Amino acid sequence: MTGNIRNDIFFRLSPIRSVLFLSAILLLSGCAEVSIQPQNSILFMDSEIAGCSVQNREIEKFIFGTGDDVVLVIGAIHGDEPASAVLAHQLVRYLRENTSSIHSKKVIIVPVVNPDGLAAGTRTNANGVDLNRNFPANNRVDADWAGYSPLSEPESRLLFHIISEHGVGRIITIHQPYGCIDYDGPAKHIAEKMGEHCDLPVTKLGGRPGSLGSWAGLTMGIPIITVELFGEDINCTPDEIWQLYGRAILAGIYN
Ligand SMILES: [Zn+2]
Repeated sequence: MTGNIRNDIFFRLSPIRSVLFLSAILLLSGCAEVSIQPQNSILFMDSEIAGCSVQNREIEKFIFGTGDDVVLVIGAIHGDEPASAVLAHQLVRYLRENTSSIHSKKVIIVPVVNPDGLAAGTRTNANGVDLNRNFPANNRVDADWAGYSPLSEPESRLLFHIISEHGVGRIITIHQPYGCIDYDGPAKHIAEKMGEHCDLPVTKLGGRPGSLGSWAGLTMGIPIITVELFGEDINCTPDEIWQLYGRAILAGIYN
């Protein structure tokens, strides 16, 4: 079914549409002041500026629910993967409109981990470091592209602190463009469940040195699922991206 949806919704990206698409992402991930919005005693949603990037762009964090079972969902740790940020923002929108779906969970969403990279269209942050190679995994290497020490970058430090502070028990990290679902740590059953709800095959890509997957999944034993969207998903509207992958993300949170 998702394959048919994909065929129906693809259209070419015009230059104007490209500018609008990027502008929408930057607006969604931008520096507007946000407020804490408690909704009721059971369901709680708050959004806040969790920290700042190298170039002082704000990094926004959304929290839904108050449960002890904590799931972290992140997008755009690589700045040249903008559809990942769109899907994460769509999850925020869905949970805002469907608060009863939270149950006993706490769902934390950081839609844009690397706002400088997203603004520049680069994989790395403004220091030229691949944030997804900057975590204190057992397989980490020191290099200019990975940082010369683990957590040398403010964006990766921020994620590390969120995971530690909230006792995150599961991570879903959204990327492009390999078109598959990868996992590290004890997450195979979750990845397979997610695969039942979209047309991404479950494929083991292997732990990259110093990646979030290597650190969280292999070093810390936290189930982590990497959702690799297709490169052409940049041509989709936010609603279309949610239509393609929303059910898979929800399956990853709730299974
Ligand atoms: Zn990536």
